[in-house]
Amino acid sequence: MNFLSQLTGSFAQPCAENPTVAMVEAAYQHHGLDWRYINCEVAPEDLGDAVRGARAMNWAGFNCSIPHKVAVIEHLDGLGESARIIGAVNCAVRRDGKLIGENTDGKGFVESLREQVDPAGKSVVMFGAGGAARAIGVETALAGATHITVVNRSPERGEELAALLSEKTPATAEFVHWDGDYAVPTGTDIVVNATSIGLFPDVDARVPIDMETLTPQMVVADVIPNPPRTRLVRESEACGCTVIDGLGMLVNQGVIGIKYWTDQDVDPAVMRAKLEEIFGG
Ligand code: NDP
Repeated sequence: MNFLSQLTGSFAQPCAENPTVAMVEAAYQHHGLDWRYINCEVAPEDLGDAVRGARAMNWAGFNCSIPHKVAVIEHLDGLGESARIIGAVNCAVRRDGKLIGENTDGKGFVESLREQVDPAGKSVVMFGAGGAARAIGVETALAGATHITVVNRSPERGEELAALLSEKTPATAEFVHWDGDYAVPTGTDIVVNATSIGLFPDVDARVPIDMETLTPQMVVADVIPNPPRTRLVRESEACGCTVIDGLGMLVNQGVIGIKYWTDQDVDPAVMRAKLEEIFGG
């Protein structure tokens, strides 16, 4: 008899609408893993106590989301390579008694990208320069993309991200100020919406792109998980592009987090099915 489950979970605020718990627990159950994932509401001033609690209770690790991705770093014992470059952690992993911060946001994105196209040697246009864009930009560059154009509304964040990518990764990067419909340059292989445009409930919001510049050789990826079939996904598909929805990134970061914690490879299809049940396919 063993009534002691292995513990993992998530620290965020607010957290009631975070679907990760449903997705991860679906995988644990499907694979017969005696593991639990607890969704915890943690206020910024309580983050240190929450991490100490996780250590005291021997948690195998935890995800952290808004607003803890940067603040958690001072409570951890070290950082993985991409988390160090990105400057943010969304997944802490217990290794040899130490809590190490990883960033699975961008790794999950690259994994879902690889289902359609290998980013190595590719030219990428990415809209956005927030937390998701930083993670996606760094991991896509580390996966071998040669050039990344960061297109962002606010110049400060966009310039900072383009400089980070140029200085800290092997890719070249440039910033373009987003002002009106952006014409995607010929020769672009991958187009990424890493902004929050299109997220529920603003489902009709339009990502300002000159859709006539999209060509069928391009892969268009959206980070928005809810709804999965965003306006951008639907309109890019109508242009003949290969499309990737935001569920792919969410599922794959879950797969990577579970691998870090349990050392088990879980079936992404089970996790995607659970999210489709929640958000619609
Ligand atoms: P941030 O708030 O850090 O960044 C938001 C970005 O969107 C900024 O670049 C901002 O530009 C841009 N933006 C927002 N509204 C507009 C607009 N109307 N016009 C132009 N640009 C706009 O958010 P995150 O990076 O953390 O998250 C972005 C999205 O990614 C969220 O919707 C989130 O749901 C999704 N996400 C999905 C994940 C997945 O697994 N599928 C994982 C993580 C995030 P500016 O700098 O000018 O403000």
